[in-house]
Amino acid sequence: MNLKYELRNGWKVINEMNNMDAVMEYSNQYMDFLDKGKTERRCVKEIERLAIENGFKSISDIEKVVPGDKIYAINRDKNIALFVIGKQDIEKGLRIIGSHIDSPRLDLKPNPLYEDDNMGYFKTHYYGGIKKYQWVTIPLAMYGVVILRDGSIGYEEGDSVFCVTDLLPHLAAKQRQKTLEKGIEGEDLNLLIGSIPDEDQEKDKVKMNILNLLNSKYNLVEEDFISAEIEVVPAGKSRNLGFDSSMILSYGHDDRVCSFAGVKAILETENPEYTASVLCADKEETGSNGNTGMHSRFYENTVAELINMQTTYSDLKIRRAFSNSKVLSADVNAGYDPIYSSVYEKNNSCHIGYGVCISKYTGARGKSGTSDANAEFVGEIRSIFNEANVVWQSGELGKVDEGGGGTIAYILANYDAQVLDCGVGVLSMHAPYEVISKADIFEMYRGYKAFLNK
Ligand code: MN
Ligand code: MN
Repeated sequence: MNLKYELRNGWKVINEMNNMDAVMEYSNQYMDFLDKGKTERRCVKEIERLAIENGFKSISDIEKVVPGDKIYAINRDKNIALFVIGKQDIEKGLRIIGSHIDSPRLDLKPNPLYEDDNMGYFKTHYYGGIKKYQWVTIPLAMYGVVILRDGSIGYEEGDSVFCVTDLLPHLAAKQRQKTLEKGIEGEDLNLLIGSIPDEDQEKDKVKMNILNLLNSKYNLVEEDFISAEIEVVPAGKSRNLGFDSSMILSYGHDDRVCSFAGVKAILETENPEYTASVLCADKEETGSNGNTGMHSRFYENTVAELINMQTTYSDLKIRRAFSNSKVLSADVNAGYDPIYSSVYEKNNSCHIGYGVCISKYTGARGKSGTSDANAEFVGEIRSIFNEANVVWQSGELGKVDEGGGGTIAYILANYDAQVLDCGVGVLSMHAPYEVISKADIFEMYRGYKAFLNK
C-alpha cells in the first residue's frame, strides 16, 4: 500500500491497461463533436442525434417509464438532458453529470450592421469572460438562428470567414502602453464583413451591398437582426497538438469536453441501479441565469415529469429525488501552466496528463461563492475512481487570492444534492483555442461511466 499521495501519469496507466487505441478513437469522436458543435444549439442537435442512434426516446413521445428506459428532453434547442431509468424509483435519487455547452464568444448586437470608410462591419457584444486582445486577427465564423419576417427560421451556415482587425505595430506606440485589459476594448470588437460598394445606391453603398447579398442568400432584411442569435466563433476545426498528438487544440473545450464525456458515458449505461442522467446546460459562462441556464426550472420540471410517468406524482417525491441525488459538476479546471507558474500552487493544481481532476471546493478569496463538497461524498467518489482504476487528481483553481471561479455545482447543491466538481485541466482557458490532454479526457469519461453505473 502506498502511504504517499502521489500523482499518477495518465499515459503510463493507459499503456498498462492497453487503452492507447481506445484513447485515440475516443479523441477522434470528441474532435468530430467539437467541429459539429460550434454553438450550444449545434451541440444539442449532435447530442440528440447520438442519443437517438443509441436508443433514446424523446420525453414527448412516452407516457410511462420503466427501469432501463432511455429518455432525452430538450429545452428551447439550447440545453438537453439524458436519462437512463434506474432499477430504484427516481425518488431514491439520481446520479447526475451536470455540464454546460455554451462557450465564450462574440455575439452580434441586435442592430449590428454599419459601414465606415467603405468597409462593412458587424458590431458585437462579447459573451462570457474573454481576454479581448485574443480575439483580433484570427479567422472567425458565424453560426446562428435568424427569425425571418414571415416567421420562418433561417440557419446561418459558416462558409466565409470574418475577422476583427488590430493596429499595426508601426503605429501602436500608444496602444502598447495600455494594459492588456484596455489594449482592445469591447466596442472595438467589430467584425469586418465586406468592402464592395453598390454603386446604384446614394449612400451606405457597402452596407446596402451586404444587405442585398444577405437577402438573396437568406431572405433576410435588416430588421431580422433584432431577433437573431448569431454567434461569432473561431473558424476551422479542432487539431491534434504535439509531435505525439497527445493533446487537442480547439475552440470550445470549456465545457464541451466534459459534456461529451458525460454523453458518451450515459450512452453506454444500461440498467443502472439509480437513474443516470447527464445534463448539458446553457448560459454557464454568463452566470447560469435565464430559461436555458442552470437556474431555470427546466431540469427540475423534467425530473418531475419522469416521476409522474413512473408513479403517482407528489411534490415530496421530487424533493426527495434531488435530496437523494449525487452529482458530478462536470466542468474544466485551470491546468497547471509552467510558463505562468507564479499564479498556481503546484501541490494543489490540476496537472495536464495526470487524469480527471476533482475539486472539493471552488470560489474566490475566502472560498466566496463556493459549493464545498462534503468529505463523505469526496471519499465516495475517490473510492469509485480507485475501484475502476481511473487516473484522478485533486486540484483547485490557482493560488489563494490570485483569482478564482465557479461552476454550476452550487445550483444543484442548493437543491440539497451531494455535488462534487470533477473535470479536466485546460491550458489557455476561454481563449479562442484551448488545450486539453487526451489522457485526461479519456480518464474523465471512464470516471463518469463508473460513477453513473455505481
Ligand atoms: Mn466551464
Ligand atoms: Mn468557462
